[in-house]
Amino acid sequence: MRIGAHVDATDPLAEAKARGADVIQFFLADPQGWKAPKPREDAGALRDSDVDIYIHSPYVINVATGNNRIRIPSRKLLLAHARAAAEVGAKGLIVHGGHVNAGDDIESGFDNWRKAFAYAEAEGGFPVPVLIENTAGGDNACARRFDMLARLWAALDGYEVGLCLDTCHAFAGGEDLVGIVDRVKGITGRIDLIHANGSKGGFDSGQDRHENFLRGEIDPELISEVVSSSGAPAVCETPGSAEDQAADIAYLRERLP
Ligand SMILES: [Zn+2]
Repeated sequence: MRIGAHVDATDPLAEAKARGADVIQFFLADPQGWKAPKPREDAGALRDSDVDIYIHSPYVINVATGNNRIRIPSRKLLLAHARAAAEVGAKGLIVHGGHVNAGDDIESGFDNWRKAFAYAEAEGGFPVPVLIENTAGGDNACARRFDMLARLWAALDGYEVGLCLDTCHAFAGGEDLVGIVDRVKGITGRIDLIHANGSKGGFDSGQDRHENFLRGEIDPELISEVVSSSGAPAVCETPGSAEDQAADIAYLRERLP
């Protein structure tokens, strides 16, 4: 099984080596900004590498919102990141499920998701799989609770949509990790990537605060159980130094087939 970490984007392959990672994830632009990604000088080396690469899109993207000053640039930025992800040979582009504003009908959020995929299709399509990630907080989220995830997937029927399951977000979002792989696959039919994270916040706290496995609120055995039963590659988005992340990677490797 392929295990790795979210790393700094300056020299991702060196970061992979420092952690013994088979898979890495990084940002192609400021995660809090709206700037389009720039071409990378190391694109060829990244494409040719044995390390599997995933790109995380900026956090500012929210294709679900009713605010068109955010929704329209979000659609465009998501497609720009998908194109830039293809340039570095990425296996997928991760994007958060997003949310609608308080008082707005959540159905409009699912509808806006469908429009984001329709927009990309009209522009030539996403050149890499887009993996929608479950989120931890908020009452108006499209992919926190799995009843909402099911409605999101129904709205996207007919499009090629992947899923990234984050263990911290699921736990803090109020979804039991026991049996979660079967529950998710019952909705989406697939899990493309696991974000293997401990949680600083408690169950259903709504807090998106990642923690190293042995320091967090989640039973670490449950995290490795989710990874192994999913059969998907895993990226640790856990805090600290390369050594801290390497310890989380080692924890999983010791317990996986
Ligand atoms: Zn995540």
